[in-house]
Amino acid sequence: MSEIDLKAYIRDIPDFPKPGILFRDITPLLANPHAFNEAIDQMAAHCEGKKIDAIVAAEARGFIFAAPLALKLNCGFVPVRKPGKLPFDTHAFHYELEYGSDTLEIHIDGVQPGQNVLMVDDLLATGGTMKACCNLVKRSEPPLPAAVS
Ligand code: 5GP
Repeated sequence: MSEIDLKAYIRDIPDFPKPGILFRDITPLLANPHAFNEAIDQMAAHCEGKKIDAIVAAEARGFIFAAPLALKLNCGFVPVRKPGKLPFDTHAFHYELEYGSDTLEIHIDGVQPGQNVLMVDDLLATGGTMKACCNLVKRSEPPLPAAVS
């Protein structure tokens, strides 16, 4: 059991970025190497015994946790980015956010068919970003074979 209370490193900011939104600020956790390391260790512990080939995460805060976790789990890291940021051919997905809407993209060859993929982010609010990432990964799967009669 860890000595570090990770919740103590997450600061509540009322009315950010808009009135009525309670923003969970993770920057105190990132600023403390023990807390940050513990957060990565705890995420890795959830993956024990599982075969993970790649971690998919959306910019920007998802990257912060996904990259060190990928190194720790010895698997690849596949970035999901805002439109126009990825240099190769992409799949795109439009989705609704807690405050607004957005589109995310993934390289068409970022995830290979049959790979076990772990989705990572710093925080789930509506789940829209995570759902968009899942949809992008599903687009990377080969189409089901046609039924033969
Ligand atoms: P969702 O798509 O689940 O509504 O929102 C989650 C996404 O928005 C995550 O990528 C996360 O980085 C960002 N986000 C939304 N609200 C917060 C918050 O209160 N704190 C932090 N750190 N990120 C948030």
